[in-house]
Amino acid sequence: MKNRVFILLGPPGSGKGTQAEFLKGKGFLHLSTGEILRKEIKMGTSLGQQARVFIDKGELVPDDIINRMVLELLEREERDVLLDGYPRSINQASALDGFFAKRERRIDGVLYLDLPIDVCRRRLAGRYFCPRCKKNYNLFFAPPAQDHLCDGCKISLEQRRDDREEVVAERVSVYFQTTMPLIEYYEKSGALSRINADASPGNISENIFRILNDGNLKTAQRD
Ligand code: AMP
Repeated sequence: MKNRVFILLGPPGSGKGTQAEFLKGKGFLHLSTGEILRKEIKMGTSLGQQARVFIDKGELVPDDIINRMVLELLEREERDVLLDGYPRSINQASALDGFFAKRERRIDGVLYLDLPIDVCRRRLAGRYFCPRCKKNYNLFFAPPAQDHLCDGCKISLEQRRDDREEVVAERVSVYFQTTMPLIEYYEKSGALSRINADASPGNISENIFRILNDGNLKTAQRD
């Protein structure tokens, strides 16, 4: 396994998906667990049916299901990978460490998008997308020209089921309890690079590129 693997870490709504889209242009595979699960739900697979119960409540899908799904994909992948939405718990991070340890290597770096949780909540509340062309909008920060209509397709925008207010509250609470400990976990291993995510998407990606290109990205310390 010679490809590089980075983690995009940050609260829901911190812009991980948007940044991953930018990085795709740099040859990275964007491996978003949320996106994979939403596709499985749409296709009505048994994985999708299992996952839906948790996603609709804003809860995490059980670790064993997610670990198997991600590690099998990583095993086969040869491109550089950007993990978006994984790991989300210390258990998942340990499974990932175990995967790398077997291959005598470590994660290449963790990009932490640092954004106050109140800003995240507001971003999630305004987040809508076009069901046809998949373009993302934000009613507060990047609204469509016409109320609730996609600029290109002229059809009604939709909200992700788990961006509804009551589900967002649960997702934020899960983030605090289960995902936030990963910041310290990766800080201790020396892998974490903190990025101020309270900026424009272009500005944030410039910072990410600079970190990647300058070789300033902190890689996990080797024992
Ligand atoms: P996201 O698109 O990353 O916000 O993920 C949407 C939902 O998918 C989450 O709220 C979880 O229910 C589920 N999910 C995504 N990634 C994971 C993960 N690594 N572990 C457990 N559940 C996940």
